[in-house]
Amino acid sequence: MTALIRPTLLAGAALLLAFGAWQHLGPDSADAYESRDLVLDGSEPQTMDQFLTAVTGDVDKYWTDVFADAGLPEPRVGYSWIPAGQSVASACDDGTAMGDSAAAYCPGDDTIYISQKFASDIYSGALDQALPGSSQGYGGTIGDFAVAYIVAHEYGHQIQDELGLFGRGLPTVQLELQADCYAGAWAKSADQENRLEDGDLQEALGAALAVGDFDAGNPGHHGTPEQREQAWYGGFESGDPASCGSYLG
Ligand SMILES: [Zn+2]
Repeated sequence: MTALIRPTLLAGAALLLAFGAWQHLGPDSADAYESRDLVLDGSEPQTMDQFLTAVTGDVDKYWTDVFADAGLPEPRVGYSWIPAGQSVASACDDGTAMGDSAAAYCPGDDTIYISQKFASDIYSGALDQALPGSSQGYGGTIGDFAVAYIVAHEYGHQIQDELGLFGRGLPTVQLELQADCYAGAWAKSADQENRLEDGDLQEALGAALAVGDFDAGNPGHHGTPEQREQAWYGGFESGDPASCGSYLG
């Protein structure tokens, strides 16, 4: 865990907001990150670890501005980029530590957990066909902005935590689609600053389709591919995170 830390523990929270279910089928990928597309402030990230941190900082800056405009205190969150082959304990452990498939926000320790292997496999395309949606022909995952979508989505859950949306008994799918919408709203801000390049939009839309699932009867359902794509694009089109409240019933 590094900067942006607010070591608040939320009593009794053991909610895990994973990005979605997936299987690791691809070969190990190098964790070297070849910088392209999304233009980030400061020095160019050279590794996935650095890229995840840079995107988190970018998303954090966006939400800090949004919250300031709304008269809210600065959002703060911890993050942990899990090295390949390792696992880390979290307040969301239910017998399984966060490992190579982790991409989650844990309200219990206010921390975003993303596996560097998972992120590298998204970036390289190794997981392209292995996700619930993409395995059925919906979308695909490759490129830096697919990874950025995941980071912004998990940060969206942290925003929901800041706004007190957990503990209201909202269905998972509503929170997931709102987090996708939040990710789109952040992407819009980057686009308005001319920091997206060709392909970024498609990378995010492809990833949103790819992580959609069809298990609508399951309480853990995160939304169908179409729902997730539309939620992300809705946030991108409006550029207004308040519009994302429409996903909450
Ligand atoms: Zn989620």
